[in-house]
Formats: sequence, structure tokens, C-alpha cells
Amino acid sequence: MIQSINSIPAFDIKQQYTSIAAEVNAAVLEVLASGRYIGGPVVEGFEQQFAAYHGVTECVACNSGTDALYLALRALEIGAGDEVITTPFTFFATTEVINAVGAKPVFVDIDATTFNLDVTQIAAAITPKTKAIIPVHLFGLPVDMTGLMAIAQSHNLAVIEDCAQSTGASWGGQKVGSIGHIGCFSFYPTKNLGGCGDGGAITTNDSAIASKLRVLREHGSKTRYIHEEIGVNSRLDAIQAVILQIKLRHLDIWNKKRQELATYYYQFLSQIPGIVPPQELLGGVGVWNQYTIRISGEGRNGASAQYRDWVRSQLQEKGVSSMLYYPRPLHLQPVYESLGYQPGQLPVSEQACHEVISLPMFPELTAEQQDQVIYALKDCLS
Ligand SMILES: *Cc1c(COP(=O)(O)O)cnc(C)c1O
Repeated sequence: MIQSINSIPAFDIKQQYTSIAAEVNAAVLEVLASGRYIGGPVVEGFEQQFAAYHGVTECVACNSGTDALYLALRALEIGAGDEVITTPFTFFATTEVINAVGAKPVFVDIDATTFNLDVTQIAAAITPKTKAIIPVHLFGLPVDMTGLMAIAQSHNLAVIEDCAQSTGASWGGQKVGSIGHIGCFSFYPTKNLGGCGDGGAITTNDSAIASKLRVLREHGSKTRYIHEEIGVNSRLDAIQAVILQIKLRHLDIWNKKRQELATYYYQFLSQIPGIVPPQELLGGVGVWNQYTIRISGEGRNGASAQYRDWVRSQLQEKGVSSMLYYPRPLHLQPVYESLGYQPGQLPVSEQACHEVISLPMFPELTAEQQDQVIYALKDCLS
């Protein structure tokens, strides 16, 4: 489909770079001249700043959000025979790592307004094999961490927060990633704090876990060429770290812009019949990595997916790009056929996959562009 010249992208990471290009370019050149490309003072400096931002004592940087989750599970010694409870409505990386350590993902359905784990359904999924829960603060909206931590504590389960889409969000005044035992972050370029390449980080207040993570990310080695266990190579580059140091200073301003855009979207989209806009829970402050609405009103189960796809194509014709996060829930993915889940078993997640559209959302989105998105939606649905 041909996009009009004025078409609005779903995200635009070039604009963000342009706005801080002079600062970033100078800092990158300095790292290049330093000869310290892996580890070293710039990476350690970023780890300290990221820990301080979250009010935790430890931050361990690594190569990606996926690695952060994998290393967290390894540090907690979760493996064969263990079960980990999580959501089926997330990016595949969240559960891929559960299998990578030899454990089994157990899926619990989501809440219809936040797209996050329905905390009231967790207890029923706990078995003697359950070792941990991975709440995902999806689209930047925090999970009900008060409810979740209470269940985890009463069953003695570890909590690994997947904060890949929620850097800067908070629950009850505490930053996400500082509430569970371990927080996992991604610096993939389109995340709220995005690098210019892959990157990730792990936060915790547990110094023993942090030491284990540092050994695991460095080939299971504390002393060079002495290997205590099987680890991986998962380090953050100094070039990424220096870019992230700069961007971290802008993060709150960028997140605030996203919050204003979300409020504006809500004000108008909640008036359009057939659109269900997202809402955060009381107690949470979201950072809106995505603004994901539901298109409802047409038939259910399959028919609504076609209707949603039609709405997306109409938007595209009007010059509005959108994204589809996520078209298929994880419990119905081919790779998980052997787990035995059936269609209809986690109905809220399944319906979300048929109804969702993620609208343009990035700090540089202008008021005019946002109005164009709203008018386009109004047109499609009237
Ligand atoms: C992006 C993402 C990840 C993985 O992060 P990478 O840095 O791309 O490996 C994990 N979980 C969720 C929810 C994500 O959105």
C-alpha cells in the first residue's frame, strides 16, 4: 500500500536521536578514543545510575532483555522440573527463556483493561513445582504488584519482573523492577529507554544474586580463565552504555510526554463507540511504551480479527501506521503444542489477540498527528 507523504509512523526513533545527536556523537567518539569497549568505567557508571534511578542497590548490565530474563532464572537456579507462572499475552522472549533453562511455562489469563496478568487467577495455577512468577508490565502499564507480591510471599515464590516495555513506570510509588526479587530490562531501540543496538539490564537488592549474575554473564567465571559453572557471554558494550547514560537523563521527560499523549488519546477515543481504550490500575503510573486499544462491537472469535484487520488497513489508507501486538497468544503457539492448551482455555488473552491495535505512540508525536489518528479512527468506525 502506498503511504501518503504525511503518513504517521507507529514509532520514530530517528527523531529522538536527532534531538540529542550532538551530545551522543561526542560521547561515542570519546568512548572510541578510550579503547575501552567492553566493560570498564562507562558500563559501571551506567549500572550505578540505573540502580540509583530504581532505588535498588544492584544493577547488572547485559546484552539484551532476553538475556536479562535468562540470567535471572539461572541465578535463581530455576531449571528442569520447575514451573514458572506467566502471561500468554507478551512477547515470546518472556517464556522462551523459561524453556531455555529447562523449566515449564504455566500460563494464567490476563485482565481485560490492562492486558496484564489477572492476579486473582494466579493462586489456582500454583503447584508444588511452581518456583517463580514472571509478571510482564506490558505496553508500559504496571501489573498489580501489591496483589502479586502477596501471593508470591504466601507461597514462597520468586518474582522476576519483565520490565522490557516499562522502564520508568511505577506501582505504589516504587519503580517497577524494584518490587519483585529481580527486575529485567531491555534497551532494544524502540523501548522507552532504547539504545542504538541490543542491550539489557537486571536490577535487584540482593547482592548474592547480583554476584551470581556477574559470574553467569561472563562465561561462569569470576577470575579470568577459571570457570565455576556454565555461563554465557552477555555484556553491554561501552558505546551502548554511554548512549544509555545520556538517554537516562531524558527518560522522565520522554515518559511524561507519553503520559500526556495517552491522556489525550483516552479523552477522545473513549467517546467513540466500538473502541475500548486501555486504562491503568489505581496505584500504577504507566509509561505507555504502546497505546493499545481494542476494536470491539463486531462478531467474536475470528470474525473480530478480520474486522480489526480491516480497521488497520483503513487507517493505513488514511496515512496512519499501526502495529499488531500480539496476533497469537503464547499458549496457542506451535512450539507449545506439547503443553496441551486448547483454544478457549485463556479466553481474555485470545480475544485480545483478535481485537488489539497499537496506535502511534512516541514522545515526539505532535498534537496535529494525534488528531489525525483520532479522526481516522472515528471515520473508520462511524
Ligand atoms: C522486548 C521484550 C523482551 C526482550 O528484550 P530484547 O532486548 O529484545 O531481548 C522481553 N520481554 C518483553 C515483554 C519485551 O517486550
